[in-house]
Amino acid sequence: MYEFAVTPAVTQLRRPGVTIDSVEPNSLAEELDLAKGDRIVRVNGRPVRDYLDFRFQTAGETEMTFLVRKVSGESWEIDLERDEGEEFGINFEQIVPRQCANECLFCFCKGNPEDARPSLFVRDEDIRLSFLYGNYTTLSSITEDEMNRIIEQRLSPQYVSVHATDLKTRAYLLGVPEERADISDKLERLLDNNIEIHAQIVLCPEINDGKQLEKTLRDLGSHYPKVVSTAIVPVALTRYNKDERLTRVTPEFCRRTIEEVEKLQAEFRKKLGVTFAFLGDEIYLKAGVSIPSKEHYGNYPQIEDGVGMIRSFVNEFDEFLEDLKEEINGQRKLDIKVEVSGRNVRTHELAITPLSNAIEKTLNSELKTQNSLRGTIMTGEMFAPTLKEQVDKLNKLIGSEFHVMAVPNTYFGGDVSVAGLLSGQDFLAVKAKIKGDFVIIPEHVIKSDEPILIDGMQFDELKAKYPVPIYAADLKDFIWEYLES
Ligand code: SF4
Repeated sequence: MYEFAVTPAVTQLRRPGVTIDSVEPNSLAEELDLAKGDRIVRVNGRPVRDYLDFRFQTAGETEMTFLVRKVSGESWEIDLERDEGEEFGINFEQIVPRQCANECLFCFCKGNPEDARPSLFVRDEDIRLSFLYGNYTTLSSITEDEMNRIIEQRLSPQYVSVHATDLKTRAYLLGVPEERADISDKLERLLDNNIEIHAQIVLCPEINDGKQLEKTLRDLGSHYPKVVSTAIVPVALTRYNKDERLTRVTPEFCRRTIEEVEKLQAEFRKKLGVTFAFLGDEIYLKAGVSIPSKEHYGNYPQIEDGVGMIRSFVNEFDEFLEDLKEEINGQRKLDIKVEVSGRNVRTHELAITPLSNAIEKTLNSELKTQNSLRGTIMTGEMFAPTLKEQVDKLNKLIGSEFHVMAVPNTYFGGDVSVAGLLSGQDFLAVKAKIKGDFVIIPEHVIKSDEPILIDGMQFDELKAKYPVPIYAADLKDFIWEYLES
């Protein structure tokens, strides 16, 4: 899910138009005297609400009229011509997310510590962000205007949190009246208009599991291929979730769920030719059951929801080890980086992630200074055994001394054991136990557009408090940088 660096929409006055964030040098926009802060309010007389509208209304047009509100307060009407396919050279402001109106039992916001970074409290429910970033919406408060927009602008696929197709159960989980929870007509309308849906079920023991889960999967499966896939992820309760209506997910529950869902998956494969319903990795790990094969996941349609991430990692790491072996044997040169990290199947090419590349570049440039292969690789408790298995193979192959450390998540506590939710405080709590000359922490614990951790600690502050260099990096990148230096 994309995390926003903006304040919630409800706290901002909505101004018409879309604001220009920057203008490329020597571009058409510069020629037109457009500048940062100007707002494009209308294109050919039609209102523009955000940059998606702008893209939609200018697509394929070579002659246009813009109504622009300049930063100075003046209004300009600009008639312009451009060559076919010529870019404007405008970078726009990020979309301000629309907020949800639900009160989900398991809402992640209720599980946040009070001092978590503010963006973690943004309860976005926005069909535009669903299309752009794969953020889930419940469609429970979608307006007619938004429905029309999805269809007219082809904002497909949409990612929908269904949770249960039984209306009472869905209403109970979302904490809204049944009329609002009922999205059957809306779903049908989207599907009739060939909008693809990826569904999600947050699995809550004793609420939407067992027979309820079977019904939901069968109902959704009956709409394949328009409903493309369904992810089933276990509810994760932090130590701040005190709601007594929720039951924690146990290994026994996971084993039972795998058995039940495996039968349905076999049915789907026979009937639809695909697995269709995918269980989150956490369910297999908690159950102590092997992660399914690559074939099971197909093209990993729900990988960013933690579905197939482990299988993908293991397979890609094995490929990386093979490449390394060939490198060591002198059979290939160092231009063989495996294009594997950062798989992001849900992010659309139109999505704005302006600073993430800059952050990644800074983090990676720091790796160049390291000339040792003795260090500690930190990760969450859930992933540590898998990572250790792979790192042991790496150590054997290249003679490195990497030590994998499972870092407990004391910041969120409860069931939270994924690497991505480790905080600055968690890393500080284990600093006395590190081995070697440096530490690598997972790159995605750093916010994509700002060098801070989930508890708001600056990455520089964490570095300053560590006795050895600490890098936020992918291990494979680290090894390649080392070999290249
Ligand atoms: S839809 Fe539910 S889980 Fe998502 S932000 Fe709203 S209340 Fe929270």
